[in-house]
Amino acid sequence: MYQCLPLVEKMISRIKSRSSKLLSYSGSLQLVKSVLFEMQTYWAHIFLLPKKIISIVTSGCRTFLWTGSNNCSRKALVAWEKICRPKTAVGLNVIDILTWNRAAICKLLWPVEQKKDKLWVLWVHTFYIKSQDLSQMETPKQACWLLRKVIDARKCLTSNDSLHKSLHQMTYKGEFSIKKSYLSMLGQFPKADWSKLVLVKGPIPRHHFILWMALYRRLSTVDIVAKWEIVVQQECVLCDTQSEEKFDHIFFACPYAKHVCCSLVNWLGYSRTIGDWNPKIQWLIQRISNSRPRDSILGFCFAATAYHIWVERNGK
Ligand SMILES: [Zn+2]
Repeated sequence: MYQCLPLVEKMISRIKSRSSKLLSYSGSLQLVKSVLFEMQTYWAHIFLLPKKIISIVTSGCRTFLWTGSNNCSRKALVAWEKICRPKTAVGLNVIDILTWNRAAICKLLWPVEQKKDKLWVLWVHTFYIKSQDLSQMETPKQACWLLRKVIDARKCLTSNDSLHKSLHQMTYKGEFSIKKSYLSMLGQFPKADWSKLVLVKGPIPRHHFILWMALYRRLSTVDIVAKWEIVVQQECVLCDTQSEEKFDHIFFACPYAKHVCCSLVNWLGYSRTIGDWNPKIQWLIQRISNSRPRDSILGFCFAATAYHIWVERNGK
């Protein structure tokens, strides 16, 4: 593990730089994706990363995404597990490096199971596996750490199929595919209706990020902040109704937000009054299923509206 620490520090130094502190959520997300992509592309293909190292990097990326700093914090508006989900499951498609590492280990298990004509595979079979069944044998205790991890990778294959069949399903054109293995290990997620809203093409990344948080209802409105035991002004700053600033007030019971949203919808030629968040989202989901250009623009404009209402609120 200590041999990996300098490499981890090099990675984390990228998110500690002075300029990275000025990034928006979406900018931070791109930086985190790039750091994890480098780990996945270069490291996970060459080294097996110890769990502790993966935990340090993941924790650093999570803290940076939500706080913009590298100071240890447990603040996370949306769980990391949801962030790592594919976009169709309303995630942000960030690489789950622990799962990716497991998939990379399976790439080493595959030639052993296939008895490929390689010197190291022959060595493993001659000295450790001998005539045993790879899928049933105990992990040889006298083997080195790396080999034990490779043989233990059998446990990552959770399907009921045989070891041979499970590994074969992770191949593509006769070669083992880490990506295929990774997607299989991530598993299936229930598809949320509102994934259509975040899959709309065109929104500016920062608009997309705020819409994604709004869909999870994780924007730090007064009701959310109160759960963190932070005392802030209770009234909505966008209107003079002195209503408490809850998520459902800002989106879109608030007269100011309702006016902005109605104007936009009418400008696009839809005759519809804007109600609360949930009915509005349901209406959008039905619309965005349609492939007409006007409906696609509606999705783009809705993301922009949610973003600018939120920015206006934060600027007050
Ligand atoms: Zn208001």
